[in-house]
Amino acid sequence: MRGKLVAGNWKMNGNLASNQSLLKSLIPLLKPISGTRCAVCVPYPYLNQTEQVLRGSGIAWGAQDVCEYDHGAYTGGVSAGMVADFGCRYVIVGHSERRALFGDTDKAVALKFAAVLKAGLTPILCVGETLAEREAGVAEQVVARQMDAVTLHSGIAGLGQAVMAYEPVWAIGTGKTATPDEAQAMHAYIRGRVAEQDMRVADGLPLLYGGSVKAANAEQLFAMPDIDGGLIGGASLVAEEFAAICRAA
Ligand code: PEP
Repeated sequence: MRGKLVAGNWKMNGNLASNQSLLKSLIPLLKPISGTRCAVCVPYPYLNQTEQVLRGSGIAWGAQDVCEYDHGAYTGGVSAGMVADFGCRYVIVGHSERRALFGDTDKAVALKFAAVLKAGLTPILCVGETLAEREAGVAEQVVARQMDAVTLHSGIAGLGQAVMAYEPVWAIGTGKTATPDEAQAMHAYIRGRVAEQDMRVADGLPLLYGGSVKAANAEQLFAMPDIDGGLIGGASLVAEEFAAICRAA
């Protein structure tokens, strides 16, 4: 049975001092929350610090991206095996900021997803449409294309070892959240599409919503039948706000 998961995406924020304070604050705030898995995905240089502070706390941690290759002449690349060395459980792949700003194609995302699985970690596969795509009525086609690139490469069984996050691009960092009904409709579409290939994988797939989730709207979103928690950007940088979202889940 899939449970609830709330994962923070710190993006390119923080420094040693601010991270120390945020991580230490989260431990007592999240300790009393049972039945919801909580995680933070931090910038690479702070994985060691995060591991040192969170080890044994019950809070998981992860990275925000990886290189699709294992090792070799890829200057600046960081492999899934490298992040695994720091105790990560999760790696975000296909975040819309990576797709839009760093040129991650569907194919690159599929390769990254496979690399994360190969390293024994759990990918958090992000999918979602832009505002123009939603207005053009092609939101489902876009999400289907992004999913299919991954399942073509790793098989539907690959998704069985993953988490997915539906993040409409128009809702990320904009303060404009999808309504619970809009989010539920796309989540049901995604789960249905997986079910066409494997009902068991569809039933067990944790499907997160991301896009301007905050304490004030989390409960309504997480109450929807196909929303299994959230991927949280801005609000994950504030300990009390992130903890309130975890409590809502
Ligand atoms: C994100 O970056 O994954 C995200 C959902 O950001 P925000 O919560 O700030 O919209």
